[in-house]
Amino acid sequence: MMLAKKALVTGGAGFLGSHLCRRLLSLGYEVTAMDNLFTGTKNNIYDLLEEKRFSFVLHDVTQPFWGQFDEIYNLACPASPIHYQKNPVETMKSSVLGMMNVLDLALKTKAKVLHTSTSEIYGDPLVHPQVESYWGNVNTIGIRSCYDEGKRCAETLCADYNREYGVDVRMVRIFNTYGPNMHPKDGRVISNFIMQALANKDITLFGDGSQTRSFQYCDDLINAFIKYMSLDRGVIDAFVEKHNLGAAVINTGNPGEYTIRQLAEETLKQIPESTSKIVYEPLPKDDPKRRKPDITLAKELLDWEPSIPLQEGLSKTIAYFRKMF
Ligand code: NAD
Ligand code: UDP
Repeated sequence: MMLAKKALVTGGAGFLGSHLCRRLLSLGYEVTAMDNLFTGTKNNIYDLLEEKRFSFVLHDVTQPFWGQFDEIYNLACPASPIHYQKNPVETMKSSVLGMMNVLDLALKTKAKVLHTSTSEIYGDPLVHPQVESYWGNVNTIGIRSCYDEGKRCAETLCADYNREYGVDVRMVRIFNTYGPNMHPKDGRVISNFIMQALANKDITLFGDGSQTRSFQYCDDLINAFIKYMSLDRGVIDAFVEKHNLGAAVINTGNPGEYTIRQLAEETLKQIPESTSKIVYEPLPKDDPKRRKPDITLAKELLDWEPSIPLQEGLSKTIAYFRKMF
């Protein structure tokens, strides 16, 4: 009998972590979710707690931990600006100390690592769309820096643990991803707009709404994780060399680009009974003006591309939040 592969998902009770745990279980893995429940909630994994191949560990990734796993997926870090700015030092520690703990464990146990980096490492980009070879435009001392620079440092650690110690690590720069299991008070734009529209409250549009984002539905991203982790290291190394990447890093996102005003209008269109009105509020500091992934590399390496357009993903996400009313 084949033994089940063992996976650790840090941040496993969060929005993306909970989807990943479900997918890994459906593929026959034994899954351990680790989380300190800072922005995640056990509600996201409640139904999994009965499952024999699933376990939950309440633990802070900044503290060392031990376990024998075949694969480690590192997601532990608050992702929403309002939450990561609430305790910026902890955010930086989650990214940097958390990454070191994950990589040290991988080094000792020969586990493969998939690390979730972010489009934020490009800052307020001067290159559009963003390609992996772009080094970014990031403020080191602004209110977003704890997240941006923490994630940049985590990438450096991944690259160096690979070069110096041969740890098998794969990085994904994720562009805005949304879907069911986002916390209703998460604070990111899609959950905010949907919750506001369903509650007939003002839709808070920051700035003039002309800034853009590209929105990826969660299932598309999880497909990319699974394909990436299943590749032989030799294939990845050859790809890194062919594209002169320096380390195994790819963008994942949906290249469809929308202004935030368009997003507000589409949300209201899909919730026609809402009496909400759009109100304009000041643009937060260092808010990137444009963001859109170039996913050429992910397409080539993973034979992958997102399949769920914004209208469809939004409708699935609205259906999830509707159940709360
Ligand atoms: P989320 O906030 O729902 O999930 C993060 C999870 O990590 C939460 O469950 C939280 O409780 C946990 N966590 C935070 N600090 C921790 C710590 N010190 N120890 C243990 N657990 C901790 O956000 P998400 O959208 O699911 O993001 C998951 C990962 O993907 C994050 O690392 C984030 O930076 C990255 N990412 C997400 C997006 C996106 O659009 N969703 C974009 C780019 C990158
Ligand atoms: N935003 C907004 N209203 C909100 C929340 C966010 O207009 O209630 C804007 C925010 O200023 C940014 C965009 O929507 O320009 C995306 O914000 P989010 O916090 O979701 O993620 P970011 O891409 O900025 O990390």
